[in-house]
Amino acid sequence: MNKSFLCLASILLLSVLPLSGREKADIIISGGTVYNGSGAEAVVADVVIKGERIIYVGKAGKKFKADTIIHADGYVVCPGFIDPHSHQEGSLLRTRSDENYLRMGVTTVFTGMCGGSHYPLSEYFAKLEQQGIGPNTASFTGHGTLRGKVMGEVARLSTVEEVEKMKEYFAEDLKSGSFGLSTGLFYVPGCFAAIDEVYELAKFMAPYGGIYTTHVRNENKDGIGLQASIEEALNVGRVAVVPVNISHIKCLGKSVWGQSDAIIAMIEKAQKEGVKVTADQYPYQASGTSVTSALFPAWCRDGGNAGLRKRLEDSLTCEKIKAEVAELIVERGGAETILFTSGKHQGKTLEEVACEMGLSPLEATIALARKGGAGLATFVMCEEDIANFMKQPWVMNCTDGGDFGGHPRPAGSFAEKIQKYVMKEKVISLGDMIHRSTDLVAETYRLNDRGRIAAGAYADVLVFKPEEIRANATFKSPKNMATGFQYVIVNGTITIDHDRYTGALKGKVIRRNAQ
Ligand SMILES: [Zn+2]
Repeated sequence: MNKSFLCLASILLLSVLPLSGREKADIIISGGTVYNGSGAEAVVADVVIKGERIIYVGKAGKKFKADTIIHADGYVVCPGFIDPHSHQEGSLLRTRSDENYLRMGVTTVFTGMCGGSHYPLSEYFAKLEQQGIGPNTASFTGHGTLRGKVMGEVARLSTVEEVEKMKEYFAEDLKSGSFGLSTGLFYVPGCFAAIDEVYELAKFMAPYGGIYTTHVRNENKDGIGLQASIEEALNVGRVAVVPVNISHIKCLGKSVWGQSDAIIAMIEKAQKEGVKVTADQYPYQASGTSVTSALFPAWCRDGGNAGLRKRLEDSLTCEKIKAEVAELIVERGGAETILFTSGKHQGKTLEEVACEMGLSPLEATIALARKGGAGLATFVMCEEDIANFMKQPWVMNCTDGGDFGGHPRPAGSFAEKIQKYVMKEKVISLGDMIHRSTDLVAETYRLNDRGRIAAGAYADVLVFKPEEIRANATFKSPKNMATGFQYVIVNGTITIDHDRYTGALKGKVIRRNAQ
């Protein structure tokens, strides 16, 4: 904690001063360096908050009085970060506070990603509103959730009637405020869908103003390959005339490293054709997934984990699977770097675990899949591609964080971006990082009244010094929360005060078109 700041920022009770004639506000953040989120140059200004909203930005002078004054001279003041891609739906229900997100400056989290969401959203939203939540939240509807409800986890194409049924389920969510459709075409059961099925659902949501966000079919060389998977996503925008967001954009695996230029060119081409295309990205070299998803090809996951286990019992099929698993272990960086992030092997590499089990890494992987698998981090990205994507004007910062596994991203992403990519390596500027984490997300997902420091906007506000921000989460200690955010304000309520959570549960459920 910074004591001098504490002293400066101590709360003054101005009611003892002669203040008649001044408009009464609740919080005045005075003299901070204000980044308004738009990407414009920062200016020194006062930010005045009343109730849930910002009511004034500029030289407050003697125009306002407030019980709480935050002296922010020398501090950055900016909109609260909006995470465009998380898997926090379970965590929000369980913890309510989602403190790890608040502590890294995130005041709004989008959930329901990569094809999986709570259904129906109306019930989920009602639960959140009843119990209270730390940050604001909004949700997409998972394609895998819809498909699973209608067809289960079978590996076959859908019929016309089944797609109609999916639309019926989807309509209910769209009316409840879903922001659109998320797909996980890599995962069971989304991986069994032809793109026509996605076209149908995307066309269906277009009149609602829905957005398409996708974990593409293959982020690596597997299956149809990375570039064809990106093209498949762009085609959804072309065919259904909906905005497309590529989730956690990356070149996964050595054999596709260096393809970021080609992917950027494909996206820019679609943008020139008039398709609105964006992407989100988390700032780590490692992806987080599971043994079965990362190390087993999609065809043998028909029927989910139970289907996989059944195939492993058949010796001929098992041999075929083993040959592909061996390749995927190499593609994912090799047994010495593949790291377990959940279960009893958490923190150990596949090589170490295999050694303990007295098996080869390949045999150990098969044995673990038979037991149901575990979370994995695989170091599959190179810094050149990460930086190349990060600098594109249409790339937002995200966490991709969830309840599962031990990846540092749900506790560190936004702090890591500031600490590593802004302050240390200077890949992007602070103003740029803030823009990509606030206004750009609000614009992409059509959020009104958030993501900006402006009169009339909701008062989601951060106060911090970038040089003090620390992402403390690591692969060994993934739950360590970030530090350095002096104030995190959610809907006008101080929620983080000098790295301490105040217990406030002032987040709102944000519904599309009803904010
Ligand atoms: Zn994903």
